[in-house]
Parts: sequence; C-alpha cells; structure tokens
Amino acid sequence: MSKELSQQISYGDKFKDFLRNYRDSTGIFKYVERIHRMMNMDMSSLNIDYPDLYRYNTTLAEALVDNPDDILIQFGDALKDLVSSEDPSYAEKKGKFHIRVYGLFDTIKIREIRTSHAGKLIQVEGIITRMHPIRSKMIKATFRHEKEGCNAEFYWPSEENEYIEDKIEKPTICPVCGEAGGKFTLIKGKSLYIDWQELTVQEKPEDVPGGQMPRSTPVQLIDDLVDIARPGDRVTIVGVVKLQQTGVTSLSPLFEIYIEANSVKVSEKVLEEISITREDEEKILELSKDPWIREKIISSIGTTIYGHWDLKEAIALQLFGGIPKQAADGTRIRGDIHLLFVGDPGVAKSQLLQSAARVAPRAVFTSGKGSTAAGLTATVVKDSRTGEYYLEAGALVLADGGLAIIDEFDKMRPEDRVSIHEAMEQQTISISKAGIVARLNARASVLAAGNPKWGMYDINKPFPDNVTLPPTILSRFDLIFVVRDEMNKERDQRLARHILDVHSDYDKFTPEIDPQLLKKYVIYAKRYVKPKLTEEAKDLIESFFVTLRGSALSAGNQEGGQTPVPITARQLEAIVRLAEAHAKVSLKNEITEEDAEEAIRLTISFLTSVGLDIESNTIDIGIITTGSSYHSRRIMSLVVDTLKRLTEDKPCAKLDDLVDEIVNTQKIQKDKVIEAIQKVHKEGLIIETRNNCFKPA
Ligand code: ADP
Ligand code: ZN
Ligand code: MG
Repeated sequence: MSKELSQQISYGDKFKDFLRNYRDSTGIFKYVERIHRMMNMDMSSLNIDYPDLYRYNTTLAEALVDNPDDILIQFGDALKDLVSSEDPSYAEKKGKFHIRVYGLFDTIKIREIRTSHAGKLIQVEGIITRMHPIRSKMIKATFRHEKEGCNAEFYWPSEENEYIEDKIEKPTICPVCGEAGGKFTLIKGKSLYIDWQELTVQEKPEDVPGGQMPRSTPVQLIDDLVDIARPGDRVTIVGVVKLQQTGVTSLSPLFEIYIEANSVKVSEKVLEEISITREDEEKILELSKDPWIREKIISSIGTTIYGHWDLKEAIALQLFGGIPKQAADGTRIRGDIHLLFVGDPGVAKSQLLQSAARVAPRAVFTSGKGSTAAGLTATVVKDSRTGEYYLEAGALVLADGGLAIIDEFDKMRPEDRVSIHEAMEQQTISISKAGIVARLNARASVLAAGNPKWGMYDINKPFPDNVTLPPTILSRFDLIFVVRDEMNKERDQRLARHILDVHSDYDKFTPEIDPQLLKKYVIYAKRYVKPKLTEEAKDLIESFFVTLRGSALSAGNQEGGQTPVPITARQLEAIVRLAEAHAKVSLKNEITEEDAEEAIRLTISFLTSVGLDIESNTIDIGIITTGSSYHSRRIMSLVVDTLKRLTEDKPCAKLDDLVDEIVNTQKIQKDKVIEAIQKVHKEGLIIETRNNCFKPA
C-alpha cells in the first residue's frame, strides 16, 4: 500500500515538475504561461500536448496512457496545488481542475476498439453523427442524517477528491456523528452537478473499407467539453475507454464500449486531414502546366463510361468548386456547385455518381430515401430503448466540406424536401424539435441523379412534367442535365463496342491521372487557388446575361401581357461559380474569357436540355423557377381573364363553356386549356362552386 501510494504521489510531483520546468524550442516556459492564461480567462482546464510530456518524461507519459483514470486525477490535483500556491482563493473557487491531453502518437480506428483497451487512454478520429441533449450529472450528493440529535447535512462521497462514478451509493455510517442508525435522505437541490452529454462518433466516410457500413462509438462529455462540437463536425477525441452494461438487470453480461472524452479537437479547415508533401506539390504544379490538363482530368472521371462528356466536365468543375464569398454583413454566397442528372434508366447515371465518389477527396454516397433515419438533412429521433430524443445528422451534414452524392434524388422523403432548400442555398440546417435546437453546417456540393416521373423521359412534355421535384428545389441546381436513352444505330454500335471492351479488357481503362494524385490536386486547388474575374470575363458573362434577359423581354412584348421569366441572378451566380471552377482546374489565378466561355457553354447546354420551351423554342428559365413555361402561364392567365368575363352576369361558369370559349377565341389546343384550368385551380386562382362550375377566386 505505502509503495503504491508513494508512487502515486510522485506522479503528481513529476507532473508539477513538468509544468514548472518544460521549455519549448524557443526557451519559453510553455505551461507556466498556459496556467497564467487559464487563470486570466477564468478557466479550470489546462491543455497539454502529449509529445511535450513524452519528451520531458517518457515514463510519466507512458504511465498516463496506461492508467489514465488515476493519473489524470493526480495531474488535476497537482495543477490545483500550483494554482493554489499563487492564488489560493482561485483554486478554492474552481474546486476541480482538469488536464486535457492532445496529440497522442497513435490514432486507433473506431472499428478496432476492443475491450482490451478498457481503462486506457486512446485517440480516435471521426465525424459526429448524433448529439443528445445536455443533462446534469450528480458528482457529489448531499445527504441528511435523519436521526435525533444529528440531522447533519454532508457531501457524499465525503473525501475531497472523490466523486460519484457509476451510481449514487447511500452512506451506511454518518460521517458527522459516526453512527449508523436512522435514515439518510438525498437532497437533490443541495447536491453538486456537472454538465453531461453523449455524442456518437462515426468513422469518417473515407476511412470505411469499401462496401462496409461505417462503425461508430458513443462518447461521453462532461463539464466544459459539453456543447463544443456539433453533428457533422470532424473531431479528434482523446479519452478513456469504458464499459457499461446494456442489459436491463444489473447482472446482465452484455456490455457496450464507450469513450469518456478527455479532450475534443474540432477540425477547423476544410480537408485539413489530407497533407500535401513537397513532392506532391511538385507533381501538382507540373500537371497544371499540361495544356491538356482539363481534358485529362475530365477523362479520369468514369473511365469505363462511354460519352457523357458534358456531365463528366460538370462533375470535374464541381470537384474544384467556385469560391464562397462572405460579405461584411455576414451574408454568404455559396461556392459549391450543385448538379442534377435526370434521365432514363440504364444510361450510367449511377455509374457516373460512383466514379465521382472515387475521385472526390471527401464524399458521402446515399440514396434519396436515405440510408439512416436522418435521411438527407437531419432529424430528431426518439431512442426506442431509453425514450430519449437525440439529433442525428444526415448526408448533407456529414458531407460538410465535401460532396454529397445522392442517387434516386426524386425518392427523397417529405421532411427532407422541406429542409433541403435551406441546406442547398444557405448551407445550414436548422432544427428545433423535442427540446433540441441546433443549426448544423451543410457546406456540401450536391451531386444528384433521379429518374423521370413516368419511368422514361417524355420529350413531348415540358421538363417539370417529367420530374417529381418542385421548382423551388430544381432552381437551386447550377446545372441540370437530361440524359435520354436515344436509339441511334451508329451510337448504339459504338456504345456496345465500348461496353464489350470494358468487359474484355478492363485494364485498358485506367484513368489518365491516378485518383490519389487527382484528390491531392483538387485539395491543392481548393486550398491555394482563388482566381479573380478579369474584365473580359465579366464583359462576356454580362452580355450573355443581358442578351438572354433581353430576348425574354422582347418575346413578352410581342405577345403582350406577361413576360417569360428570364434567367435570374441565380443563374448568373452559377455561371460565375462554373467559371471560377474552370480556372481552378488549371490552377489559374485569373478567370479569363476562356473560362467564362466554357461556363456559358455548359449553361446553354443545360438550358437547352431542360429550359427550352418546346412550343416556342425560346429559352425560358421559368420552367425551372416557377414550374411552368411562359406559354403555359400565358394560357393560365387567359383562363382567369375569360372566367372573369363569363361570370360577370352569373355566379359561375360551366367547365365546358370555359374550355370552348378559350379554344374558339384563342386557337389553343383543348388539352392545353384543360391543363391550364387544372393548374390555376390547384394554385387557388379559381374556385369550383359546384360540380364543374367555376368562378374566379
Ligand atoms: P442508371 O443509374 O442511369 O439507371 P446505371 O448507372 O445503373 O444506370 O447503368 C446501367 C449499366 O449500363 C451499367 O452497368 C453501366 O455501366 C452500363 N452503361 C450504360 N450506359 C453506359 C455508357 N454510356 N458507357 C458505359 N456503360 C454504360
Ligand atoms: Zn449523523
Ligand atoms: Mg441508377
């Protein structure tokens, strides 16, 4: 006992020695300074960089990892002693001091944590997927000894540095009067509590071996660690591995591993965990000088996929992204590019998405239905076992700082349809439900694919009739491509030959640029390349914008009345993002005419593939932004006007009369008129008073 005790005491003394005497490479007493800073900031936690301790006293550092529970308490007490020697009242006021350890040498994979780690200090990296509400944990109980002649109230456990661990144990002997008889009553209001919170930390998507489900571990936070991280945050956690019983009875042999956190470090910078060496940098700069760099990057995406050049180019631009802008007043314009592919089944949409996942430095792949309860955004979930609510992050939150790849986007759940608007534009997700209030970051680019409403894309119907997504969501995509399975003998032959080649000679389809190098290239561009618009590029984009809006205006004037919805500021911003990304691909610091031209070419390709008004052959973005083309809206307004006229002298007009009137006077096809009547009725512009009899609203 005495030998053990003397050793324990010396851990504290050795730690004091380290705090007092450790100097960094510039000769500064690093921890003496940190202690003063801690006191100035009125805090009670001191951060220790593990390598410093290891260098100063290797035995002590190794003992810490081996037996952290005991040693951390001794370290905390040692710190309290040091503080007390300078300012006894400060030490008294704070009570308990914490040592927070950062930077262990080894990081253990979450899937490799075992019961053999129990009681040891380990370090894990991951992404927070769940957050439980903050609760209070009793660390010292106050009991009253209900016995005549005593009635004393006292803290329990009564030893100064002992705290409640797993359960509150009643005293058997009164520490004040020393007797056992009578009753001990817990006084909740006079007991001591600290904040307590549970999180779930999951392996980072890029750490999950191919085809496997990500593993996760519960992490408990106490005191000042509570609330410092949110779902979606990438964290490095140092903590002690613990076991807790999961069964209903206290004799249950089932245990669950969790980590009691000692320190939590939240990654600040996007993609900081991938380092680029000097060698990498040389290769990257060399590559960027290649006049064919863009083509090489584009053809490195989906090497086994035939054709689809524009889609691959769009994916390439999305990987690099535009540049987010933050105004002085805090408003933010996203730099992330959102892409949507809508098309017939079997045209390699899913394949393209998978190939994007392989080259993106950070990607989360999911289906519109969502692979977890949290779906695409975030949800408050009720735990079936405990009945407690917790917040769970969905794909867009987990993809923060990267790419959210969503197949079967049209099968999105109704809750996600609501919150995805905010997620795609403001890039945050706000949640307030069951007492959980949070705003999560969702700074991800969305790469989505969906199937047409009727199985196959019907070119005789306008774009919105072909998809089940509302215009409010569609208008948030920078580029949308319709991919059709067109039958064309020559193309079919080449496609067949290509697919057969892929199957017989797979090796031939190795990408031009190695995916690992491409990832680093993308990270380099995102980190260091911030191209600015040149005057020429500005002129070009401006004149494109003005011309398109002008043509919409003159189309409106010709027909009188309503104007087609021209392209809007949203598309203008999209063009700028695409041009920025295009310049970043070759690591240019300027956005030149060439970049603007390509951004415009892709935008026209998108507009003609979806926005082309089939009846009038004019580009009308209204199809995306309001869900109906200028022409169909013109018929809708005709319906309302005609109905007003017909109901001047009667309460309502018969459907047939209304249809006939418009068909006869305006020479518009009957089915278009009926379609327009259904739309204005759905929008509440006209009301059905009785069976098939309508009046204006
Ligand atoms: P979608 O998601 O569009 O329904 P998939 O990506 O599942 O289609 O593709 C179906 C299959 O057809 C895949 O095995 C894919 O490789 C093949 N395929 C379709 N189009 C092409 C193409 N252009 N080049 C190569 N393979 C193709
Ligand atoms: Zn007593
Ligand atoms: Mg598919």
